[in-house]
Amino acid sequence: MIAFFPTAAGNTAKQWLFTALDILQLPRLALLSRRDQATIVLYHGVIPPRSGEGIFNYRKKFIGPQAFAEQLVWLKRHYVILPLAELVERLAGPGQLPPRALAITFDDGYDNVYTHAFPHLRRLNIPASVFVATDLVQPGKPLWFDRLEYAIGHSRKNSIILPWDGAFREFPLSTLAERCASDQTIRQRIKLLTARAGSKLLEAVENQAGAELAKTFSASPYRGLSWEQIKEMQGSGITIGAHTRSHSILSRLTPAEAEEEITGSYLLLRQRLKDVLDIFAYPNGQPDDFDASTIAILRQNGFRAALSTIPDLAGSARNPYVLPRFTLDNTDDPRLFRLTVTGIRSMLSQLLRPRRALAADEYFETSAESYAKAYGEPTPEGFSFRERKRLTLEMIGPIRDQRVLDIGSGPGVLTEELLEAGASVMAIDIAPAMIELLKARFRHPRLEAQVGNIEALGLPERSCDIAIALGVFEYLSSDQHALGELKRVLKESGRAIASFPNLWSPWRLWNRILLAIFKFPWRAFQALSGHKPHPIQHREYTAAAIRRVARQYGFEITDFAGYNFKLLLFPLDRMFPRLTVAAAERMASLARTRLKFLATGYIVTMKKP
Ligand SMILES: [Zn+2]
Repeated sequence: MIAFFPTAAGNTAKQWLFTALDILQLPRLALLSRRDQATIVLYHGVIPPRSGEGIFNYRKKFIGPQAFAEQLVWLKRHYVILPLAELVERLAGPGQLPPRALAITFDDGYDNVYTHAFPHLRRLNIPASVFVATDLVQPGKPLWFDRLEYAIGHSRKNSIILPWDGAFREFPLSTLAERCASDQTIRQRIKLLTARAGSKLLEAVENQAGAELAKTFSASPYRGLSWEQIKEMQGSGITIGAHTRSHSILSRLTPAEAEEEITGSYLLLRQRLKDVLDIFAYPNGQPDDFDASTIAILRQNGFRAALSTIPDLAGSARNPYVLPRFTLDNTDDPRLFRLTVTGIRSMLSQLLRPRRALAADEYFETSAESYAKAYGEPTPEGFSFRERKRLTLEMIGPIRDQRVLDIGSGPGVLTEELLEAGASVMAIDIAPAMIELLKARFRHPRLEAQVGNIEALGLPERSCDIAIALGVFEYLSSDQHALGELKRVLKESGRAIASFPNLWSPWRLWNRILLAIFKFPWRAFQALSGHKPHPIQHREYTAAAIRRVARQYGFEITDFAGYNFKLLLFPLDRMFPRLTVAAAERMASLARTRLKFLATGYIVTMKKP
């Protein structure tokens, strides 16, 4: 896959997609909706197109000055642009943000921020923040990915041979496209290595290529800001924050090394400058690039917030150490810029991305409380959770002195209600962290909790009166083992209450249509952002299929309801979450009627004979 010189087909698809979305006026609609959300954008730099520099800026990390100036004018027209510190402060208190608040950030600290971005910012009187990887400034050393790009781009050889997976691998460098592809592959590899192994591989590249950025760094377009430039910008609305010293990915370092990178850059900035932000920006900034220990280091050293590169709007419920940002690299095309900054692009990617990746993000962000908090949020997801829970409790009825098995318990979403109703509860979840959290949240003589899954429950035969499985079946590869296991652990006349996504709900139908339409241009999108396409695994059921499966395993269906009637289809549901919830609330009475096939999911009670 050559992600950065898109193929003709990919290019056509991309143009087609941009045009289609532009005609639909999605960016404009997105601006009208979700006024209460804040936006943080991320640039890396601004530089005029140049030639004869190897493969410099082939990933379009720096956009052109003309595009940048136009973007600023557009942002100023449509948003209230605040200094980042003010935006972060107002995020912490509900209702304090002006509608459509936005903050502008630059990462890394390249000299071109001063030469090509700052003049426009000053002219338009727009505040911005620069997060500096301080090695660029002092002692004035190139960052690792720039060394790589330079060595690959300036080598006089037609190929280089590198140690790779315990053997050797040849990387062709005959054409610019080959150089870009080689750079891409090696860069991704280094990101996954420990810092030590990564720098060894990088040195091998420089030795093999016979080109080293360090020798020409200060005259190269990879050079960093000077202290004088930084101070001058600080006098005109630019604030400065830390972004480590060497731009190492923090989760690949030991905690001591990570702390050194964070505090080293922060202390140096504070020694040299009067004002430094107590906000940090993670190198690379994806969910895998930092972890709970990184956040602990930030807290201990007095940082009150940190910026990721997870593309999303920033609402007030956010963890301040995982603030999202929209990256505006490679947005010279104004349509792509508008789609990115208004969140349409990330919405599409959430729709089309594999569930696993989404869950990983969400899981991380949570840690804990926010998963449970999702149940209380006024979002469509929160409403769906609440409806599912309400109907489940309604179906269960009185359960005093019964033994209830809660499979997929999460951090204990139903636990409190079940205990209050007098049941003894066995909570089971596949994620150890969830069980830990549940144990920390609830202590009760009638509560037990253990790690496990529905296909192997590890409980004695006929030991439970009721088994609940919400949001479980869709992630299995078949129903067989799960139903067999439920039948085994339930007593005679015991009941299983399970939820299933409804295949024919209009909302799911529409998502499938979108998926089919956008599959091709989406591939192009993914190619541009360097991701490989994945299939989406998420099973959906028809009412008939649920009845058939239940019968097959000897269960009798005694109750069948629909939950969450989502009338507003994607992307309107995401743009107008309150309206979506209000409409679904009005339709909730359809749960047990013939119209239940309109619901996004079913909840079913199955009785063991
Ligand atoms: Zn960076």
